[in-house]
Amino acid sequence: MTTVAAYAAPAAKAPLERTTIERRAVGEFDVLIDIKFAGICHSDIHQAREGWGTAIFPMVPGHEIAGVISEVGPGVTKYQVGDRVGVGCFVDSCRTCENCEAGLEQYCTGTGQVPTYNGIGKDGEPTHGGYSQQIVVDENYTVRIPDGLSLDVAAPLLCAGITLYSPLKHWAAGPGKKVAIVGLGGLGHMGVKIAHALGAEVTVLSQSLRKKDDGLKLGAAHYYATSDPKTFEELAGTFDLIISTVSAPLDFSAYASLLKTDGTLVNVGAPEEPVSLNLFSLIMGRRSLAGSSIGGIRETQEMLDFCAEHGLGSEIELISASEINEAYERVLNSDVRYRFVIDTATI
Ligand SMILES: [Zn+2]
Ligand SMILES: [Zn+2]
Repeated sequence: MTTVAAYAAPAAKAPLERTTIERRAVGEFDVLIDIKFAGICHSDIHQAREGWGTAIFPMVPGHEIAGVISEVGPGVTKYQVGDRVGVGCFVDSCRTCENCEAGLEQYCTGTGQVPTYNGIGKDGEPTHGGYSQQIVVDENYTVRIPDGLSLDVAAPLLCAGITLYSPLKHWAAGPGKKVAIVGLGGLGHMGVKIAHALGAEVTVLSQSLRKKDDGLKLGAAHYYATSDPKTFEELAGTFDLIISTVSAPLDFSAYASLLKTDGTLVNVGAPEEPVSLNLFSLIMGRRSLAGSSIGGIRETQEMLDFCAEHGLGSEIELISASEINEAYERVLNSDVRYRFVIDTATI
């Protein structure tokens, strides 16, 4: 076991503070990663504040991890000391169910995936995430960060990037396709960049036009305010694919009406309460309502390679660990462009 400096929430809703945690000894197929950067995802805040139900404390959040391997177990074949790697939202899964075999570990139906933090590892110990200086992970749940990507802007790709890449690929965003991204935050800004790089014509649907200049610079061709009812009249029947990244409840019938025939409205953000929908908005036009969760290990690697090839990193604000609590408040106020990343050397 190794003692590692970390930032943890000691209890639900308590501010995060500096502490130490124990990492397991490096096992046969494990790699020890010196974490360099960790992104702050909105779900870190939900979990540290028990917004999604009972959680495990003390909690070290962080599932957007970028670092460098400093030790490998004797059975490791994919990586060497010095390799630049990332870890996303899960660190293990059953490995034998239909979904795991298909590379869809995020939908593991066996034991379920083991979350990077706020979960219980196969050793029976609570898992701890990226707001720390080192982590031990099985090589099969580690991905390579290509040389073309700086580690700081790569970190948010491990959750925000793959959360948008996976549905964009699954629903075939590309040349000739009109794609709308709802919400221009940590998730949405990556959706715009990736959809544009895939060759789709991208529209941002945001509450106001406050971030319009940013949206156009990131690759959007159009930018509309959803607070303006005229937007819904003008864009009726326009999109092949709409991806909603917002967790506030939307008028789903109104958004579905923006789809073309056979179009799909995909949710990657989830309101806490059940939502209602007038099903005629789907029936008239054979439209689909769908959801999507992160991506599997293979697809996460594919996403990183794609982002490196196209020069796509996250837009980040680099912070020191002592600023985490302040950053949480700013995320809740949508006051970040577009992802906070912790320099873990400051822990
Ligand atoms: Zn996340
Ligand atoms: Zn499985």
